[in-house]
Amino acid sequence: MSTTPARIPQRLIFHVDLDAFYASVEELDFPELRGEPVIVGGLGGRGVVSAANYPARRFGVHSAMPMHRARQLCPRGHYRNGRMERYRALSQQVFDCFRALTPDVEGLSLDEAFLDLSADPDARDNPEAIARALKDRIREQIGLIASVGIAPNKFLAKLASDIGKPDGLVQVSEAGRQAFLDPLPVERLWGVGETTTQRLRRAGLSTFGSLRRVPEPQLRGLLGRSASRIKALAEGKDDRPVEAHHVTRSISAEQTYGRDLNQLPRLQEELSRMAEEVAARLRGKSLETASVAIKLRTPDFHTMSRQRKLNRPSAQGAELRDVAQALATEWWQAETARLNRSPRLRLAGLAARELVAATGQLGLFGNQARGASTDALLDQARSRFGDGVLQRGIRRDKLGTDSTQE
Ligand SMILES: [Mg+2]
Repeated sequence: MSTTPARIPQRLIFHVDLDAFYASVEELDFPELRGEPVIVGGLGGRGVVSAANYPARRFGVHSAMPMHRARQLCPRGHYRNGRMERYRALSQQVFDCFRALTPDVEGLSLDEAFLDLSADPDARDNPEAIARALKDRIREQIGLIASVGIAPNKFLAKLASDIGKPDGLVQVSEAGRQAFLDPLPVERLWGVGETTTQRLRRAGLSTFGSLRRVPEPQLRGLLGRSASRIKALAEGKDDRPVEAHHVTRSISAEQTYGRDLNQLPRLQEELSRMAEEVAARLRGKSLETASVAIKLRTPDFHTMSRQRKLNRPSAQGAELRDVAQALATEWWQAETARLNRSPRLRLAGLAARELVAATGQLGLFGNQARGASTDALLDQARSRFGDGVLQRGIRRDKLGTDSTQE
């Protein structure tokens, strides 16, 4: 008997970081500042620079620098007090763009986040197109420039977005990892302080590549217990998960289409099928969802997501379906009006987003009991005959909206 080690599927992580965020917002809101050196921060006696745009950086100004020093370096710069409320409002819009792609968003600051797209097979096949569409959307809808790093882990993704700045889009693949890392200076190691990098340099180890080639026991003599962690970073290894704030993960179903969907009834059928699938999986885990989301992606890889609370948590296909179809109809009609033609979709998905333990009170309400017993029958049939055997019947009325007969 042979044992095969479990294959760990490769992850797809984006690190998205807005370029010179605060300063760029000033340029966005005050067009007369565009292209001029802009420095945002505390303007008082002991103030510190919190952001400098690229024209200001050419004078040597950078964040965390004392403001009086910045004024020496760049006397003709535009110095502005920060407007945190405005930055926060724009940050929220940017994070909405992130969450349209995935609920697995770990914010690091107002303008920086990790996105875990591992569960999106279409994104795995087309990571650059997805990143490009995200950058376009942030630019077109909000007016800000983001840099994106794409990689199998957080450390590499962050390095990749940094290296591409400004307006960057850099992907580090598993195959290209070593070539990307080897020339980098040890100062780019994450969470490694100045004392340690100085020690490495004194030992002649100034790049990731030189560090990678030192056997670990030898490195331990130099760095002690952190040797293995630092060596792993130099090799681009990093297992840390993207830590989104939601406690439970969502349960979702999605489908990429070989031929774009371009009819609302087809989309509604698809959402109906996905609602049944997601509801069955919820029931299988004794969960209900308080919120249903749909995810739609157009052929140019723009992804949007719409979410709505249910009146009460549910694990019934029909209830999930109704909300998803209502959201889809609203989006479809608005989009049809905007484009003056039917939209096209390369992907559709449905997700249960706020999961709670099932209350076990099914049957207390008339309607709910009826829906629940139908679902229970479907579950039984599925477990007997396998998935995809049984579905609720779909009746299309004259208006082209779908409704279900039970
Ligand atoms: Mg930034």
